[in-house]
Amino acid sequence: MSNYETSQTSDLKELINKLRDTQTLSKNEWIRLIDGRTPPELANYLFENAREVRITHYGHNVYVRGLIEFTNYCRNDCYYCGIRKSNLNAHRYRLTKEEILNCCKTGYELGFRTFVLQGGEDGWFTVPRLADIVSDIHKNWPDCAITLSVGEMEHDAYQTLFDAGADRYLLRHETYNDAHYRKLHPASLSARHRQNCLWDLKSIGYQIGTGFMVGAPFQTTENLADDMLFLKELNPHMVGIGPFIPHHDTQFAEEPAGTLELTLYLLG
Ligand code: SF4
Repeated sequence: MSNYETSQTSDLKELINKLRDTQTLSKNEWIRLIDGRTPPELANYLFENAREVRITHYGHNVYVRGLIEFTNYCRNDCYYCGIRKSNLNAHRYRLTKEEILNCCKTGYELGFRTFVLQGGEDGWFTVPRLADIVSDIHKNWPDCAITLSVGEMEHDAYQTLFDAGADRYLLRHETYNDAHYRKLHPASLSARHRQNCLWDLKSIGYQIGTGFMVGAPFQTTENLADDMLFLKELNPHMVGIGPFIPHHDTQFAEEPAGTLELTLYLLG
């Protein structure tokens, strides 16, 4: 290793120390830390620190969630998504209320204490219908947390579902930067509206989860830095960071997938 590389690595290790101690970096520091990540030594240093922080807060526990994918109908057309509305090859399904409650019953017997209802933005599941299902789950299994992951709604709808018994809400912001967001979504969707949904959910009292794709088409390091800064600002209870995976029935079918290496680094 040259002297330059040694000093660059120690400079980046300092950034990792700063991140560990203050939980934040400036935008330029994020960009340096992400772009300068060549030596495996640096990633290992980051992971060691991340592991220590994780053990301090969570110990060695693993929390399992019962995920119920209850519909893959969706009114939206996100360009990267295999179940977007214009994909006519997708085999569509929708669970009935009874099937959803049966999933909860089986899950409860298996030891699950969190149920996640996840689906596309399916117009059949109106807010009253969803609230009715949430309320029944809440009545039948009052010791379980109910998490929803059903996309963008207005404040009142989120409030109704919260009042019915939902505790948590997952809504990845996908990418913070507006121009990047527009390259991945039709004009009817906007980064700002999605972010506002997250602020609404938080103000209502949900535990919220957000996150973003790694390696999405057109993504720059600056975009990733913006994502990290948004996470800091929003301060969600949960964060999901996962690689972009090209779907064969989308316009991004030939794009390369996000790498495991960068995804793990950002998780660290
Ligand atoms: S809102 Fe979600 S499910 Fe619907 S098209 Fe977009 S990514 Fe896919």
